[in-house]
Amino acid sequence: MTALLDVQHVTVRFDGFRALNDLTLTLESGELRCIVGPNGAGKTTLMDVITGKTRPDAGTVRFEGHDLTRLPEHEIARLGIGRKFQRPTVFPGHTVFENLELTTRGKRGVFHKLVFSRLGSEELHSIERALELIGLSDLRNSLAGLLSHGQKQWLEIGMLLVQEPKLLLVDEPVAGMTQHEIERTEQILASLAGEHTVVVVEHDMDFVRSIASKVTVLHEGHVLAEGQMRDVQQDPKVVEVYLGA
Ligand code: ADP
Ligand code: MG
Repeated sequence: MTALLDVQHVTVRFDGFRALNDLTLTLESGELRCIVGPNGAGKTTLMDVITGKTRPDAGTVRFEGHDLTRLPEHEIARLGIGRKFQRPTVFPGHTVFENLELTTRGKRGVFHKLVFSRLGSEELHSIERALELIGLSDLRNSLAGLLSHGQKQWLEIGMLLVQEPKLLLVDEPVAGMTQHEIERTEQILASLAGEHTVVVVEHDMDFVRSIASKVTVLHEGHVLAEGQMRDVQQDPKVVEVYLGA
């Protein structure tokens, strides 16, 4: 099986310090992969490398045969790599539905938006599907600014979904959420797997424990352990890093 994303021996240096150090990671299509590691492990830097924000000093990053280290950020996004940042960036003065509508049409560009004012059936379907997945169908007419922190985060996941990315990168999705919202987020992310390939970055091991997917543990810019959570959490190297943190 060929990997959807193939990161090989990537090193990123900042003033001589290796934020990523000979990092190798592959993702299969349809996978939900959790990447965990203490603060400073290199998780966000890895996302930056995949999305073209940061160029590696060594190594290769391939996505469906494309060499991402040679492409500008917008072309990487166009290949179908969507990223959700930690802070939600919804349009507060627009409804939930409009937020999804605006991001859907973003795909077609401003010209299309000006000339054709009505949504196509494909776009409508894509919005309905996203609303269902993020559990905000009933709140479609609510202003995004009035949503709870957790609901805003889900809406932003929806705004990525309507762009139909092949690979979805989500950085620390549950920061600042209530326990109930955390559980709901786990369900949402788990429901995306299969049709989407999703990478979730978290420093909190408890979050990853209940998602029950394959886990990669990063430490000092390198893969420390990888596998099913129940195995990884018993790995003495992982225990040491987490207890020592
Ligand atoms: P994580 O997301 O796992 O907490 P990061 O990828 O943000 O870790 O950071 C990894 C290491 O690289 C940290 O020690 C951080 O201070 C350092 N780092 C990240 N970005 C930069 C930068 N632009 N310049 C210098 N050092 C950086
Ligand atoms: Mg980070």
